[in-house]
Amino acid sequence: MNTLSQDTVEILYLAAAVCFILALKGLSSPRSARRGNLIGAAGALLALGTTFLSTDLDSIVPILLAIALGSAIAVPAARRVQMTQMPQLVALFNGVGGGAAALVAILELSENSSQSAGDLAATSFTVLVGAVSFAGSAVTFAKLQELMTTRPVVLPGAAPALVVGMAVCLGLSVVVTLTGNLWMGGVLLAGGLLLGVMFVLPVGGADVPIVISLLNAFTGLTVAASGFVLRNTLLLVAGTLVGASGTILTRLMAAAMGRSVLGVLFGALRGGSTAGSTAVSNRPVKSVGPDDVAILLNYARKVVVVPGYGLAVAQAQHTLRELAEVLQGRGIEVLYGIHPVAGRMPGHMNVLLAEANVPYTALKEMDEVNPEFKTTDVVLVVGANDVVNPAAKTSPGAPIYGMPILEVSQAQQVIFLKRSMRPGFAGIENELLFEPTTSLLFGDAKDSLTKVLGAVKAL
Ligand code: NDP
Repeated sequence: MNTLSQDTVEILYLAAAVCFILALKGLSSPRSARRGNLIGAAGALLALGTTFLSTDLDSIVPILLAIALGSAIAVPAARRVQMTQMPQLVALFNGVGGGAAALVAILELSENSSQSAGDLAATSFTVLVGAVSFAGSAVTFAKLQELMTTRPVVLPGAAPALVVGMAVCLGLSVVVTLTGNLWMGGVLLAGGLLLGVMFVLPVGGADVPIVISLLNAFTGLTVAASGFVLRNTLLLVAGTLVGASGTILTRLMAAAMGRSVLGVLFGALRGGSTAGSTAVSNRPVKSVGPDDVAILLNYARKVVVVPGYGLAVAQAQHTLRELAEVLQGRGIEVLYGIHPVAGRMPGHMNVLLAEANVPYTALKEMDEVNPEFKTTDVVLVVGANDVVNPAAKTSPGAPIYGMPILEVSQAQQVIFLKRSMRPGFAGIENELLFEPTTSLLFGDAKDSLTKVLGAVKAL
């Protein structure tokens, strides 16, 4: 099917590229994220339609079958996924993209024996980095889905093996670039797969999502390189956008956790700690009931809610909003303190609270809310732990050391809503739980908030 002129194709691709840019702009704020997502999807549909109408496709039946099969797997998976499982879904989809780019590059090697040196360099880059992205993403998926340990896996000799692996793969890329040999391309693909596994195995705990974002950037670069080889402007633009935004997100996430990207990737190989233990403390704490919490809240002038991963697990956002509204109705100021890495994905708390119609104006980012704690009567920590853990400032050996935190200890009273004394994601004890101004309301956050709401209404 080749029914469009080259000029029309270029204009349609340009329109799709503009859609992708507008999509990224929209995704930068919770207010416009849904619209941004739809614009991006429309751009992808336009690009797909244009490709179909402008290319001589001799294998249309297998292509349609592949699209049907892919959709049959991806649509239900995306619909059914819990928000807390989103990072591993992103890893999976991203890995498939990298793998596809690597396979297209191998096909180019097999079908096009007269590639220029520049094209061959781009092809070997795509094979290697696409394979790394595919295998690395598969390992991150397995880690986050708990199909294997989430902790760093450092096999004996891992560091020198990684260096040798990188050198061999680099050498193979040069050979493929110089010869265009298909079999060497196959060996490079296998080397890339192995390198991807070696690269991600030593990364553990909270660092895994940072690596997912980095692999996302890798996939973007392979897609851009494919665009260069296939002379497809849209692939070039879309791949560059993914590469650039993935790189920016990787840096932002690493900075929010107070880590360097190199530290994330090679910290465990250098013997650094990247995950804590899962030991449960049995030191005494002050436990309170819902009625006590209701009284504290009812007589406060200013309350700051600090939501975390447990809020998402308990799906307690609607009850939380209701409680906040009742308190506001009694003239109490209620703010939400949002840590950039609260939850399990960037923007997790913003999405969760937006779903419960919490006004954006009540959400305060870390830098904005930290000065507020000095004048706060009660902080309600709902299913958060690491993001308020002072170990980030006081324990140099802790996996979260260096991460900026919400300074809740400056408030008059701190109430933690959690189910047990289990630690948070980083697996380390939180000294704040044992402070004299801290109380714990044990139980599922939704149950606890429902009881507190009932008790506040009864006052
Ligand atoms: P944490 O994982 O530190 O703590 C979650 C707390 O919620 C735990 O104390 C847990 O205690 C409690 N909890 C779990 N389920 C429930 C429930 N149903 N009801 C009540 N409480 C519950 O979460 P934070 O949000 O404070 O920190 C996020 C962590 O995740 C950080 O370490 C961050 O680095 C990491 N991370 C963040 C990413 C992001 O992009 N946002 C990506 C990947 C990792 P208990 O079990 O006792 O109930």
